[in-house]
Amino acid sequence: METFCSKLPKIELHAHLNGSLSRETLKKFGCADNDILEYNQAKQTTLDQVFDIFKIAHQATSTKQNLYESTVKVIEEFASDNVIYLELRTTPRKEADMTEDEYVETVIKALLDSESSDIMVKLILSIDRRHTYDQQVETLKTIIKYKKLYPDVVRGIDLSGDPTKGAFFRDIFEKARRNELFVAMHCAEIKNDAEVMEMFDFKPDRLGHATFIHPDFQGSAELWELYTKLQIPTDDKGVFDTTLSNEFRIVQQTFSLNKEELWKISKNTLSYSFATDRDKNVLNEKLDKWKLANIKILKHPYYICL
Ligand SMILES: [Zn+2]
Repeated sequence: METFCSKLPKIELHAHLNGSLSRETLKKFGCADNDILEYNQAKQTTLDQVFDIFKIAHQATSTKQNLYESTVKVIEEFASDNVIYLELRTTPRKEADMTEDEYVETVIKALLDSESSDIMVKLILSIDRRHTYDQQVETLKTIIKYKKLYPDVVRGIDLSGDPTKGAFFRDIFEKARRNELFVAMHCAEIKNDAEVMEMFDFKPDRLGHATFIHPDFQGSAELWELYTKLQIPTDDKGVFDTTLSNEFRIVQQTFSLNKEELWKISKNTLSYSFATDRDKNVLNEKLDKWKLANIKILKHPYYICL
């Protein structure tokens, strides 16, 4: 089953650029060994500490050249894990030698240069909930600017950052929606029923995490039962030292899924993506072709050779 999960064409909809850096990338861009170890072992870290870990990644992506190369590398790594469609997300940020605009331009250039027949890559730009309202408004301006310049690349907006801090400002996301951005939101990473209600009322296109939804609002446990409506993402493949294939394997074992059900998860995940209809058609065709070519493997539980 491990081989199957690895070979299966997969769709990744929730990957943070600065959480997805591999050890090799961190090492190449000058991170100290003990920092790399700390970054890689975040599974054992509490929510309070985990957001500090991203500062380690920021050392590796603090110049235009390093940011460009790190992004290219992340995309290559997803492609070699047979991810055929990737939505990468990142928060625009300023550095000593880089404006917020240059940060976004550099990531977009890396995406455009990395696309191949193996992988299609789109960008979701995030708003950090820890920022003040005025800062969030400024970031939104940047996001809208790049959505207009690269409508096929910048597909969505996200609300992310430490869930114990900051706020969800509805009007910011309403404006994003009016500017044809799909909306993803980190939701219920901690118990916060009032905010969950506000977010549900807004109806984002996709929720991330959704781990502490009260049963009164069709809670997290009920969502699990609808596993075909769930997407399996890595979130931060570097920080959690994982791959998308590995996450598929965990879900397969937890819910005793068969191969065809795993293929269906890929297929359903695509329907929740922020890709254009044209791109979805291309990818659907790819998934169907793969199924046809591997029909024996899908139908026979013990047929393991690919
Ligand atoms: Zn996330």
